[in-house]
Amino acid sequence: MIKRRKTPQVKIGNISIGDAHPIAIQSMTNTQTANIKETVKQIKQLSRAGSEMVRLTINDNKAMAGIPKIISQLRKNGYSTPIVGDFHYNGHVLLKKFPQSAKALDKYRINPGNVNYASSKNDPFIEIIKIAIKNKKPIRIGVNSGSIDQNILKTLRSKNKKSKNKKSSHQILCDALVKSAIQSAQKAEKIGLSKNKIVLSVKMSDTQDTITVCEMLSKKCNYVLHLGVTEAGSGLDGVIKSASAISVLLQKGIGDTIRISLTPKKDMPRTQEVKCCQMLLQSMGFRFFAPTVISCPGCGRTESKLFESLTDSVKAHIQKRLPVWIKKYPKVTQLKIAIMGCVVNGPGESQHADIGLSLPGRGEKKTAVVYVDGKLLKKLNGKIIKSNFIKILEQYIQKKY
Ligand code: SF4
Repeated sequence: MIKRRKTPQVKIGNISIGDAHPIAIQSMTNTQTANIKETVKQIKQLSRAGSEMVRLTINDNKAMAGIPKIISQLRKNGYSTPIVGDFHYNGHVLLKKFPQSAKALDKYRINPGNVNYASSKNDPFIEIIKIAIKNKKPIRIGVNSGSIDQNILKTLRSKNKKSKNKKSSHQILCDALVKSAIQSAQKAEKIGLSKNKIVLSVKMSDTQDTITVCEMLSKKCNYVLHLGVTEAGSGLDGVIKSASAISVLLQKGIGDTIRISLTPKKDMPRTQEVKCCQMLLQSMGFRFFAPTVISCPGCGRTESKLFESLTDSVKAHIQKRLPVWIKKYPKVTQLKIAIMGCVVNGPGESQHADIGLSLPGRGEKKTAVVYVDGKLLKKLNGKIIKSNFIKILEQYIQKKY
């Protein structure tokens, strides 16, 4: 069991985050927020997929004006997922101009690098924090390498020039990101926002850099931390990059919420990022969302077609039946099923799983052996292997859970 870093507990709408709560999954819409119909539709999809918070871009009057309608439609339809407003440059203006929207949102996300660029006489950061305090809303102060506060960077660079122990420009960038987050959080606290209303994140587009800055941040404060790799990319690149950084940090007990942000690809649903987060948390044993299927990669020892199609069929069956199983047998998410290609690792893995099937490899007797709770249950032959295995699986779930 990994010991999580101690943090305050932050309430966001109907959920709480922090070390006393499960690591939460976040996502973000990519619809035009002002398009209420499409935005509500996507929030529902993300929420159904398991997103525990959904962030929306709020970049102009139209987007901000539609917020109460978006949230009331969701709540009326039974969706309680907290909705987070993402503000850059003009957040202070929009939050002031649309008080009903400011009240309706569950959290505000601001980027100190972008808040300070606004050409307002009053300090936009102070204005936003005061609105958050008035509305009792938490804030995420999210610092990104692509939009670093230039004043902090300049100060650190000029200090470095005078220093005997010179740091590289890359080290200065990391220092500036962490300083920007901490300094902003402390400023927010001084204005009156309590610690249990603050979430911090520092994101970079490189895996190692993200690990470095998040570790630095975690050593300097105990605020709740959100993790992610910014601009991670698309497809497998993005998934692996994000998963590597997030896993290393979670393993060190750092991180209370996560997002795997992926560049959209044709035919890839936005919900993919939520699924990736679930898989990551499950593969590390932090949370469980669905039964685990252990299957070997196959090799020259197996007549792969049956083995591959059986793995796909069992996974499809799980996906189809999961909503029903979860309601009836909530602990079914802990189930481990093994589907193995041949006698080399098949019986062993099948015995370690709750229920396992070792298929006949090339040259082996044409029987598939089924193990349940480590013991040989029966041998299946011929065309009935798939249907019988699924029947045994259903019976097992009914009996065990
Ligand atoms: S279990 Fe058998 S088929 Fe599967 S990878 Fe190992 S040796 Fe190959």
